[in-house]
Amino acid sequence: MRILVARCEIAYHGRAVTRLGAGDRLIVFKDDGSLCVHADRGFKPLNYMAGPTSVSEDGDVIRVYRPASDETLVIVVQQVLEDSSFNLDDDASLERDGAERQMHVLLERAPEAIEAGLIVLERERATDTGPIDLFCRGEDVKDRPSPETVLISQKMGIHEWSYDNDVSLDLRFKVPHAEDEQALRDITLEVELGYDREMAFKEAERCLNCDVQTVFSASLCIECDACVDICPVDCITFTPDGEEAELRTRLKAPAQNLTQELYVQDGLKTGRVMVKDEDVCLHCGMCAERCPTGAWDMQKFLLEAANATTKVHACAAE
Ligand code: SF4
Ligand code: SF4
Repeated sequence: MRILVARCEIAYHGRAVTRLGAGDRLIVFKDDGSLCVHADRGFKPLNYMAGPTSVSEDGDVIRVYRPASDETLVIVVQQVLEDSSFNLDDDASLERDGAERQMHVLLERAPEAIEAGLIVLERERATDTGPIDLFCRGEDVKDRPSPETVLISQKMGIHEWSYDNDVSLDLRFKVPHAEDEQALRDITLEVELGYDREMAFKEAERCLNCDVQTVFSASLCIECDACVDICPVDCITFTPDGEEAELRTRLKAPAQNLTQELYVQDGLKTGRVMVKDEDVCLHCGMCAERCPTGAWDMQKFLLEAANATTKVHACAAE
């Protein structure tokens, strides 16, 4: 084997025509006539030629010719850095432990190792872009996992709200209007200009906790009526139970919207029920703040529902 380390240019004629500009390279001439040209980086040769070949040298030009495929490589040497030849003695052969074919067989037997529900349809399917080792089909998209819904409640805790619920004396921000003079001159002019980004943000900060739910625990309630007193919209009533139509009329503020169900909780010590009209509740949290026993609690929740696959979950908060 000859090893030549040299600065050289290389031209190739054969299945293609290539030219490699000057550079420092390792050129390996093997005893069977094969040849490889390597750069300092990368494992792939820049040029190679299978043997047998004929090699001729004329001054600083090395010409390698492969008659079987009529390929020629011309190396023009500019500077020799190393030029050595060795007689190598090597009778060992590469021992393999596991072949690609064995991996195919194993995967064909257990395709679920790649993905649950995978079915092997074909081995070595020919395609325009080459053979596919294992041609498989996944789960039927109509065969969805059974509905799975997970509800995770988060207790908000008195004075530990997720939002700033300090009492704010801010007046409502006025929506900007067009100048009176312009509005009077043009009857088609849009008078209400709407909030700009900053004002809209400030106004939204006044928002109540409409995504936080009121949750009542009858076993904690001592029926002190403190929540009834503080509720700004009179939507909590403690009263004897009864038929819904009649019960609606007995509430502190009669519940007239029949499309909105009432929140009714029994199990109170006096035998009465707690009735809350969800239609008017502001979710202000005053009842939970006032309740001395924590019977009213504000909770928000995360709903996880099954979708097309078990890997994807949608999260929704209300
Ligand atoms: S959250 Fe506010 S509006 Fe709703 S029941 Fe409680 S005090 Fe009344
Ligand atoms: S403030 Fe609390 S303990 Fe008192 S009546 Fe309301 S829920 Fe019951």
